[in-house]
Amino acid sequence: MPALNRLAECVNDLEDVDCLLCGSTERQVLYRGKDRLHHVPGEFTLVECTRCGFIYLSPRPDRDEIRHFYPSDYLPFRPAIHEERSPLRRFDRLFGLYRRCRLIRQLKSRGSLLDVGCGTGDFLAVMQSYPGWTVRGLEPHAEAAAQARAQYGLSIDPVYLDDLPYQDGAFDVVTMWDVLEHLPRPRESLGRLRRVLRSDGVLVIGLPNRDSLDAKLFGQYWAGLDVPRHFSVFSVSDVTRALLEAGFDKPEIFNLNGGYHAFALSVRFLLDGARADPKLRAVILSTISSLPFRLASVPYFSLLKWLKMGSTMIIVARTACEGGKNNKHTDARVTTRNTLTGSTHD
Ligand SMILES: [Zn+2]
Repeated sequence: MPALNRLAECVNDLEDVDCLLCGSTERQVLYRGKDRLHHVPGEFTLVECTRCGFIYLSPRPDRDEIRHFYPSDYLPFRPAIHEERSPLRRFDRLFGLYRRCRLIRQLKSRGSLLDVGCGTGDFLAVMQSYPGWTVRGLEPHAEAAAQARAQYGLSIDPVYLDDLPYQDGAFDVVTMWDVLEHLPRPRESLGRLRRVLRSDGVLVIGLPNRDSLDAKLFGQYWAGLDVPRHFSVFSVSDVTRALLEAGFDKPEIFNLNGGYHAFALSVRFLLDGARADPKLRAVILSTISSLPFRLASVPYFSLLKWLKMGSTMIIVARTACEGGKNNKHTDARVTTRNTLTGSTHD
């Protein structure tokens, strides 16, 4: 119980923050909820900025305390892929990595790549196997960083994004898979990443999509909220605005998949929240994790992906040229060019 008591202390030690995008102090409470994933004690509050509409966690754990909310079984710190016992799970993880790597190699044929929040390094390990790529990771979780080094021989810097140790223009590509929503100052962090990218660099981000169908269907049970680890809930227009302000061109936004895993997790949270009968809960969860359900649901998730309504959105943002020469669009509408979308179908 000491660990749980420690977490309970952390929950009492939260800090109030202003809007992470516009700095306004004006906000309204949107929803109070519990940690549905790791069951950290306490209640956490998502607020909506009344000036710009951004949704963020306030109050929230500070930098010293937040590490207590990332247990060793947190998803990105999972065991190696070859140690996964379930063949389906092993296939899922490998296929997910393949899709990410294929996307990067469509954007650049070779170059230097930094993966921010690389966890145990699975993605970097695959990328470094392709000729012409030099890769590096940033991972503040010491155990995950050590595993990435030991398992794959990767170069990992165990620091936070605020302490980025690289020279300006050091990388061709920066990736952030499921990281932006965890950052305490996303606007400043995007500016920092802009500086370490070359003038023709690309930033690739994967993060929960507040505009997704799952977010609308599941509401407070949507897995993309994940309080208190997620500090922000980005919509397409939120992330576009933040990138433009940080010095990127208007991004391309699409889906790599329809979001089956987030859907399954949201169903679990909904059943838990509704205090469903344990037998019914077990039947539903085993049904949606079965191979027949997975196969039968392929058309549905493919449609979500095509509509860009999946739970996780992928952002491709290129560095804007000086004087805005590269910035062909002057408004804040989102580029929906289909070149990437069309070429990344499963
Ligand atoms: Zn705001």
